Amino acid sequence: MKILVAVKRVIDYNVQIRVKEDESGVVTDNVKMSTNPPDDNAVEEAVKIKESGKATEIIAVTIGEEKAQETVRKALAVGADRGIHVKADGILEPLMVSKLLQKIVDKEKPDLVLMGKQAIDDDCNQTGQMLSALLNWPQATFASKIDVKDNKLEVVREVDEGLETIEINLPAVVTCDLRLNEPRYASLPNIMKAKKKTIDLLSASDLGVDISPRIQQIKVEEPPKRKAGIKVANVAELVQKLKNEAKVI
Ligand code: AMP
Repeated sequence: MKILVAVKRVIDYNVQIRVKEDESGVVTDNVKMSTNPPDDNAVEEAVKIKESGKATEIIAVTIGEEKAQETVRKALAVGADRGIHVKADGILEPLMVSKLLQKIVDKEKPDLVLMGKQAIDDDCNQTGQMLSALLNWPQATFASKIDVKDNKLEVVREVDEGLETIEINLPAVVTCDLRLNEPRYASLPNIMKAKKKTIDLLSASDLGVDISPRIQQIKVEEPPKRKAGIKVANVAELVQKLKNEAKVI
């Protein structure tokens, strides 16, 4: 089985996001960037499947500016065999990303595409679903457990009501939840070895996809500042304030 894993470079989840003064977006200059967290889970799962002898090759793919290649290098250091970097600048909408991934799937013919459930920068939660629609492949989203069976996957999904178990046929697209596994750290020797692995560089035009934006972003604003709270002396005062001032009880 061949696995394609999509990894996106985003602002590190520990960074306090700042909005640009002209409200055109968020500040990214001199800001720490990392792999989108659920994409690390996707890579980890691919490596585990390969270690269990059920996959023969893992290809990590990213779409983005020059530095996005770092995310592919990290995936290679963790266990992916080779990488693909589709170089593209500016804002990339999920539809454009999924069209590019569709072309890569057509070329590479993987049996499974693993992705994150959501990118923490745009919070779209759309790319996996769009890719499965474009490919006309089954999908399992928000996976918190994946079992590979012959030509099928059993996937446990995190849904509002609890856990749902489904079975889907391969080839398929699966988007990974943070609870799927514990991503490993890359060891120094593996980081060094990853430098020798191949990363193919492509452009959107090589793949024949128009990535011009369809969505016009009007502005990006900070969320409203929370007002300072107050301290109450005792429970009686708390109840009185909730009843008479906040009017919530
Ligand atoms: P989104 O639909 O934007 O929330 O992204 C969902 C998932 O799609 C991410 O977790 C990634 O696995 C994948 N993805 C989105 N954008 C990119 C990108 N530019 N390069 C590689 N993978 C991406």
